[in-house]
Amino acid sequence: MLQPIRVTVWNEYRHERQSEEIARIYPEGIHGAIAGHLRTLPDIEVRTATLDEPEHGLSDEVLAATDVLIWWGHMAHQEVSDAVVDKVQARVLNGMGLIVLHSAHFSKIFKRLMGTTCNLKWREANERERIWVVDPSHPIAEGLGEYFEISQTEMYGERFDIPQPDQLVFISWFQGGEVFRSGCCFYRGRGKIFYFRPGHETLPIYHQPEVQKVISNAVRWAASPRGSAPTFGNVKPLERL
Ligand code: ZN
Repeated sequence: MLQPIRVTVWNEYRHERQSEEIARIYPEGIHGAIAGHLRTLPDIEVRTATLDEPEHGLSDEVLAATDVLIWWGHMAHQEVSDAVVDKVQARVLNGMGLIVLHSAHFSKIFKRLMGTTCNLKWREANERERIWVVDPSHPIAEGLGEYFEISQTEMYGERFDIPQPDQLVFISWFQGGEVFRSGCCFYRGRGKIFYFRPGHETLPIYHQPEVQKVISNAVRWAASPRGSAPTFGNVKPLERL
């Protein structure tokens, strides 16, 4: 039998402890909701980590035993230590998958890996979002129709200041008229990164089956083969010169 994919779901876990309204939607935290879905899948093994744990729950040991890291943050990006960001970046370049959700577009780790501001337009009006699958043969789109909808969502609009994605899987349309590249794949070193837009803390979006499906599809995509470690520097010729 294949080894299970080892996933760590990371959450800053502040909103859920500070607001009763948010705690009602995510009683186990946003990380708990995401982990709860992933735990129903036989090929995935899950642990969680949060900001207020020592080393934010991301010790060398945990990172070494993580095939895919899922990242949710919003109000405390600046509290994430640069030393941990350095280590996560090194693990991504070394082959760990990274799934960056919603407001984590402004996380230190995502901005570091993108090299741009990662800024965007936003509006909280609980409007409808239609997420179009623009790359139906992509593994992250598996099992989805041509589109799915989120009935109430926060709007994110273009321009989204990221480098051109290596693959674009989803484009969102919002009731207010904006569009957004809401499913973006990037390759960095031997690692794969997927940015997925949905998931505001005051809305039950991580309980929606299509959203859960995208996350588990992305876990499998991001974990899959990372190839042999490249070597660099001065080399002897392979053939006689
Ligand atoms: Zn939000």
